[in-house]
Formats: sequence, structure tokens, C-alpha cells
Amino acid sequence: MSTRVIPVVDQRRAQSLPPLWPSSAAVPAAPADGVLRDQIGRPLRDLRISVTDRCNFRCSYCMPKEVFHKDYAYLPHSALLSFEEITRLARQFVAQGVRKIRLTGGEPLLRKNLEQLVAQLAALRTPEGDALDLTLTTNGSLLARKAQALKDAGMQRVTVSLDGLDDSVFRRMNDVDFAVRDVLTGIEAAQAAGLGPVKVNMVVQRGTNEHEILPMARHFRGTGVVLRFIEYMDVGSTNGWRMDHVLPSAEVIARLRAELPLVPLDAASLGETAQRWGYANAAGQHDPALGEVGVISSVTQAFCHDCNRARISTEGQMYLCLFASQGYDLRSLLRSEASTDASLANAIAAIWQGRADRYSELRASLPSDNAPAADQPRRVEMSYIGG
Ligand code: SAM
Ligand code: SF4
Ligand code: SF4
Repeated sequence: MSTRVIPVVDQRRAQSLPPLWPSSAAVPAAPADGVLRDQIGRPLRDLRISVTDRCNFRCSYCMPKEVFHKDYAYLPHSALLSFEEITRLARQFVAQGVRKIRLTGGEPLLRKNLEQLVAQLAALRTPEGDALDLTLTTNGSLLARKAQALKDAGMQRVTVSLDGLDDSVFRRMNDVDFAVRDVLTGIEAAQAAGLGPVKVNMVVQRGTNEHEILPMARHFRGTGVVLRFIEYMDVGSTNGWRMDHVLPSAEVIARLRAELPLVPLDAASLGETAQRWGYANAAGQHDPALGEVGVISSVTQAFCHDCNRARISTEGQMYLCLFASQGYDLRSLLRSEASTDASLANAIAAIWQGRADRYSELRASLPSDNAPAADQPRRVEMSYIGG
């Protein structure tokens, strides 16, 4: 068995943050079409907000036990953005173009009274007066208990992570002995509460859960749940990622098509990260009653050119890329006495306009058969900024 070296200290807070754009500085003139764009023309549309850095699972690809052990120093409560701070920031992001907000973590349902935040965010309106697309990604462990309260508070949809149906495989992957049945109960509760269409994300790791691809597809086919297979990514610095653990989406689709007829579908929206495939009927046409599956090929087919997503970490750092090693300290600005809504809006606009990140497109220049070089800047962990 090969060994892997895992740094025992998470140094994310040791990173020095780049100076925040001076709040008094003028934002470069807005483009004629009024849409805020980054350095390569991408609009800001999608915001992911991490509401906690804690989780009750220890998925080996995200929060391995060797690092996130019982003495791990999570953020103190005072470091977390309050619901009021999150809502205030979100309002400014919406003014700058955001139309979709996803709550994530860590495990977002561990954050106490989360439905209060959901209600506050659900009350936000776009400049055109429309409600936001408000969603949540969860490991499903607390969903059966919370689905109805989330729906009542204004949550529209949920995505549930589930890496297989074989109980022993899943218990090993979440590494806290959590049963598949309890996640399935959570998915059913979400559907019953009207939080649909429910999406299920399965991270596929070659040699670990690849044999679960077909059982998962068969299980969710025709249920209204949209299953999506995600390539295992080299996010963070603690999961010991290797290219040979990635099962390319093209192979996932080939395995599915060998058993279940599929036809390609158009992207549902601009910036959609999943490639969609519909289950076909005997005539070879998509049968909506059977539903669809998707693949998210972050490693083998980068979609940076359409990436319209910003992220806010649990402690209010704004990140422009999942693979960034540094964020922009919006919390300091929020908590400074001089802070105004205009200064927040200016900061968000200026940071986005300076963005040129496209890590996954550049990954191709890394050696293909190994992990990223150890001398690269330490990346932020997925559990800190959310997926
Ligand atoms: N705890 C929640 C959950 O698991 O759904 C939300 C946070 S989790 C970080 C968000 C998503 O990131 C999950 O679907 C998870 O499977 C995915 N994820 C975490 N680490 C990943 C990795 N190395 N590669 C691909 N996806 C990953
Ligand atoms: Fe927790 Fe989600 Fe990470 Fe798994 S993927 S350890 S459930 S935050
Ligand atoms: Fe977006 Fe960064 Fe992912 Fe590219 S690598 S799609 S820029 S988050």
C-alpha cells in the first residue's frame, strides 16, 4: 500500500491576505451593457456561501480524519459571519449581478437556526424585482429533520451528496459509519417537502466507488432525482489527490450507455457546469419520465471560460476560484466603522473586475500522472469555502 504525507496543520489562517481594494477607490466605469465582468469577460452570477467549517462526516477526499481529528481547531463562533452580515453582503452581491445563491460548508445543516438565514436570503430581490435561485448542498444526514423547515423558510431546491448505495462502501467513504438508508430518507423528505428537483452528487474515485455508478443510476432513474457524477478534484492540500484516482466523465458515460440508453441534452443555463444526458425510450428519444443524469468534468474538461461563481468562506473571505490560495477579507470591511453598503459594493465589483483565475484550464500543464507539485501555494480547503 502506498503511503501519503499529510500536513498536520491547516495553515489557512496563516496566509496573509492581499490588501483589500480601497473602499474609497472609484470602481472602473461599468460596461455599456451594465453587466459586471472579470478580466476575461465572465459575469458574476453565482454565489456560494459557506456557513460553517464543521462537518459530521469525514469524507476522505475532503476532510480526512488524519487532519480533521478531534483536536482540530475550527473557527470560533466570533469569527463566523453572522446571518445579518451574510445577508448584508449577499444583498450587495445581488446588486452586482448575482442571481443564484447556494449555501454550503462544511455541513450547512449543522449551523444552528439555518432556516432564519434562509428566510432572510429568500426575501432579497434582484434589481428587476425577482426572487433569487436559492439552494443548498448537504450530506443529507440532517435533511429528514430539516427539509420542511427549509422549504417553509423559502429554500427552493437542495443537492444531496451520496457516493454509493453499497452500505459498506459508503460507511467507509464518509468514515463516520453513516448509513446509506439515512441519506436516502433525507432525499425522500426533501422531495416530499417540494425541494425539487433534488440533485444527488456522487464523487467518483477510481478503485473506490466506481462500481457504484450503475447501481446509483438504476436506483434514481425515473424517480425525479437528477444524479450527477463528479470527477474527483485536486482541491485543497489534504486529500492526497492523484490523477490516477480520477475516473474521467467520458468513461462514466460510456459505462452508463453500455447498459442504459442515453441521449445528450442541451445545457439548462449559461454557466451550467454539468453536461446533461437524458434517459432514452425505445425510439431513442429522451423520455422525461425517466429523467436525466449529468457529469461534471472539472478535471478532464475544464469549464473555467464560463465560470461565473464567487465564494464566501465561513469567516467572510471572498474567493474567486475553488483552487485559490488566498481570499479577500470582506469581513474586515463589513466590521469596520467606515463600512457602508457603497464601500462593500465597490469592493466586490473591483475584486471581480480584477479576476483572471482559470486553474482547471491551466492544470493541463501539470504532469498528468501525479499530484500537483508540493511547492505550489497552499490551497484553501473545500470544507472551508464549500463545493
Ligand atoms: N457537506 C456538504 C456536502 O457534502 O454536500 C456540502 C459541502 S461539500 C464540500 C460540497 C460538495 O463538494 C460535495 O458534493 C462533495 O462531494 C464535493 N467535494 C468535496 N471534495 C471534493 C473533491 N476532492 N472532488 C470533488 N468533489 C468534492
Ligand atoms: Fe463533510 Fe461534505 Fe466534506 Fe463530506 S464532502 S467531509 S460531507 S463537507
Ligand atoms: Fe472556476 Fe476556478 Fe473551477 Fe476554473 S478552476 S471553473 S475558475 S472555480
